[in-house]
Amino acid sequence: MLKKFLAIVVLSFLLGISNLACSGPHGSQVRITILQMNDVYEMDPVSGGKEGGLARVATLHDQLSKTNPNTIVVLAGDLFSPSALGTAPYESGRLDGKQMVAAMNALGLDYITFGNHEFDIKKRSFYDRLKESEFSWISSNVFDENGKPFPGVADTEMIEIDGIKVGIFSLTIKKNFTNYVSYEDPFEVAQKKVAELKPKMDILIALTHLTIEDDIKLANRFPEIDMIIGGHDHENMQYWRGKNYTPIFKADANARTVYIHNLVYDKGAQKKLLINSKLKQITDSLPDQAKTAKVVEKWRNIGYNSFRKAGFEPAKVVTSTNVELDGLEASVRNVPTKLTELIAQSMLSVSQGAQLSFYNSGSVRIDDVIPAGKITEYDVLRVLPFGGDIVTTKMKGSLLKRTLDQGMANKATGAYLQKGNVTGGDGKPWMVGGNILDEKATYSVATAKFLLTVGDDNLEFLVNNPDVPIIENKGDVRKALITQLEKTFGEGK
Ligand SMILES: [Zn+2]
Repeated sequence: MLKKFLAIVVLSFLLGISNLACSGPHGSQVRITILQMNDVYEMDPVSGGKEGGLARVATLHDQLSKTNPNTIVVLAGDLFSPSALGTAPYESGRLDGKQMVAAMNALGLDYITFGNHEFDIKKRSFYDRLKESEFSWISSNVFDENGKPFPGVADTEMIEIDGIKVGIFSLTIKKNFTNYVSYEDPFEVAQKKVAELKPKMDILIALTHLTIEDDIKLANRFPEIDMIIGGHDHENMQYWRGKNYTPIFKADANARTVYIHNLVYDKGAQKKLLINSKLKQITDSLPDQAKTAKVVEKWRNIGYNSFRKAGFEPAKVVTSTNVELDGLEASVRNVPTKLTELIAQSMLSVSQGAQLSFYNSGSVRIDDVIPAGKITEYDVLRVLPFGGDIVTTKMKGSLLKRTLDQGMANKATGAYLQKGNVTGGDGKPWMVGGNILDEKATYSVATAKFLLTVGDDNLEFLVNNPDVPIIENKGDVRKALITQLEKTFGEGK
């Protein structure tokens, strides 16, 4: 075990010349390059075109393959959903990640495991996406509703490269429960898979979609694993944990970065594995690969055209911000952020006379941070892919208090309420526009039509309630947010 750690230390020291040292005809050495992505929802570049973009990743893949034919591309989960483009109407349903599978087929993805967001889409779409995949799905702990493997999904993979056996098993976080999926405990499964694979494999890789806490636990409990290629956290990270200092790697979401892992396996008596990993930013310094760019363009046009039918111009620059807008689920379902405040404010802006606004945080689906800079209408569609109308209503202070209290109790779920012109809660009195909420007063409110017509968890008492009548419809919240962004940060730019 110490041997491997020392090897890694030595390698870090030799970083600059490691490629040189291994490129010659070393009969006893096998070089494997792994290109890692995780949590990729958008095929086009993000951050105003600055970062990400699968056609650029495809170029990098070509470059790596040229240097080392033993190059494999892996994705540590989350591909089908969520994205704005995925919500675009297509045939009798929605795109639902069809565009992502097409782009990954073109790019040459090899292996992928399930992320929790794969199960956001309807069963029919999910099975269609599996069928369209020209890459290999691996899952050791996620199965269909009967506990059977999904069609074409392997529970482990063995790749043989120049006589070296690389074993991969895959674990996914138990989340986003739906009626067509069942899970086994990731750690119980890991125990079985490590015992089964380790004796047969030269290199054992866990391709995971877990929290970093669970990945660290995995490294600590199963030092037999040689490396953990992970996802779910959306931010790049690298840890070395457990008694063998097993490395754990995650890249940034949406291919803003990828990891390039150079593995050198010495077939000699020592059987040493060296891992040299480099985080690589994906920017316009990488040209688009024509084949993938064509596929991306095809599906972008299909999606954009259906948005145009709904009155949006996806490519249009709305504004340029000087602050980042946090739309991460972990944030927006627990606390207000600049982004949720802008939405709440947009509802007030279009609803003259409204004293406050509230809406369900689950309507914010981007699950990402939009960095400071250009924002397009497509970004707005990414924030609020399901849209929905803003309505005005009047409600008694007592009912408003009940609603706000319940909204707070719904913390950590999509039924947590985001609010405009309201402070307090969590033991403190509710304040509306700086004044303590008066239970006997009547308030003019702007809210999401969804809450008064369809309803959200524990807030069903608002649905078709004559004490919360819909007075006026103020139109699509995405239009309101576009106007609000222009107002706050300046038009166009
Ligand atoms: Zn995830």
